[in-house]
Amino acid sequence: MSARTVHIKSFGCQMNKLDTALVRSALLDAGFALTESVDDADIVLINTCSVREHAEQRVLSHLGHLKHIKESRPDMVVGVIGCMAQRLGGKLLEDKTVDIVCGPAQIPQITELAIKALQQKQKCLAVTQKIREKSETQTQALEGFESAYGIEDKQMPGQAYVRAMRGCNNFCSYCIVPYVRGPEVSRPPEAVIEQINKLADAGVKQVTLLGQRVNAYKYKRGDKTYCLADLLEMAGKVDGIEWIRFVTSYPTEEFFDGILRAMADLSRVCNYLHLPAQSGSDKILRAMNRHYTAGQYLELIDRARSFVPGISIAGDFIVGFPNETEEDFRDTVELVKKAKYKNCFIFKYSPRPDTIADKKLEDNVPMEVKKRRNTELLSVQEQISDELSRDFLGKEVKVLVEGLSKKPHFNLTEGEDKPQLVGRTTTDYIVVFNGPESLAGRFAKVKITKSSPLTLFGERL
Ligand code: SAM
Ligand code: SF4
Repeated sequence: MSARTVHIKSFGCQMNKLDTALVRSALLDAGFALTESVDDADIVLINTCSVREHAEQRVLSHLGHLKHIKESRPDMVVGVIGCMAQRLGGKLLEDKTVDIVCGPAQIPQITELAIKALQQKQKCLAVTQKIREKSETQTQALEGFESAYGIEDKQMPGQAYVRAMRGCNNFCSYCIVPYVRGPEVSRPPEAVIEQINKLADAGVKQVTLLGQRVNAYKYKRGDKTYCLADLLEMAGKVDGIEWIRFVTSYPTEEFFDGILRAMADLSRVCNYLHLPAQSGSDKILRAMNRHYTAGQYLELIDRARSFVPGISIAGDFIVGFPNETEEDFRDTVELVKKAKYKNCFIFKYSPRPDTIADKKLEDNVPMEVKKRRNTELLSVQEQISDELSRDFLGKEVKVLVEGLSKKPHFNLTEGEDKPQLVGRTTTDYIVVFNGPESLAGRFAKVKITKSSPLTLFGERL
């Protein structure tokens, strides 16, 4: 019998991309074959995100599409994995289209679930009612899964994500993550480093350490407490790994200077900080349960720039949080102007069931106002990004090449042997240039000849 085929679709953040890569690698190991198309898949898995309602709606509409396919191919198995699976559990399984529901804490069971659903035509539910309880068995299972399948993801040549921490304990009032990903757990440093060693042996050049508050990484053994700066130092000694990144950082004093010092001193640690502010209004920050003021946040950013000259900083903002007035929004615009981010991710507040904000605060900023604030903040940021990008004109940069550029930019095609490639600088700038596809996963030098707010263009040297 030929191998069973699996199609995996992924929604959401880097954490989800990592989970998708682990699941893909586990299923390949179990003898499944990957397929690009749903039409010839025996099993379709959707890795889901619950952070905003929009992300969940996209999954539901994708399930609607699969429902039609399943009408003509009733044997096709459909699995929903990830945060939405944990949030909705059995309710998702009531949908006739869905055969497997598996939460993020249960992904080590994915192969077993896939085989059971295919062979025994049984619906399978794997979520936990006790997501906020620390479970040693669960942690061990996740560790085992991570170390067995945390290998290079062929979809991202030369690069890999490595989890430093799971879960989150911060309970920002708007955020669903602590309810679907469970408590904060830092992985043992040697497990992280062993994985990085394996990745280096496989030819990986860049690792990105992941955690919801990765700068809060803390692992205690005996008298020693390992923090992110220690992990960066240990990772910096792994032969073959040339660039190390970490995301996402939470604005806090704890460990901040040590991490910046590591960034300044260790040549392999990329000079890039993703430090979401969420708002520039102290009133809103308090209501969001973020534990800093706009002034303290800006002070951290100033310090980052004085420790690491040339560091690039990215931010996240939520506009239209309950009771956000025009004045609060002006404070956010001011903060964005002062922070001079490389780029910002801006989201319209989306109430998430069971979060404190959803239970206690009315979603009282009208959608048109959220949209207007979103557009205005984006255009303020665009101007800043444009100015920062212009500084690169005429300069040479080193990039790690990700592969073919997904969207064609301007008229830069030089023929089939030199298609348009995309790479990133150590400071996370996106650079588009022409070169052989074989450069994917390798470093290249590019001279910047043209700039736009979010992308630099150049010629390979
Ligand atoms: N742990 C990271 C942090 O603390 O910044 C990011 C977690 S979250 C997956 C990514 C971003 O989604 C957040 O920084 C926030 O801007 C946004 N976000 C989270 N919950 C949201 C909500 N309910 N509505 C709109 N945006 C939200
Ligand atoms: Fe969500 Fe806040 Fe945790 Fe980030 S730090 S995952 S925004 S609760």
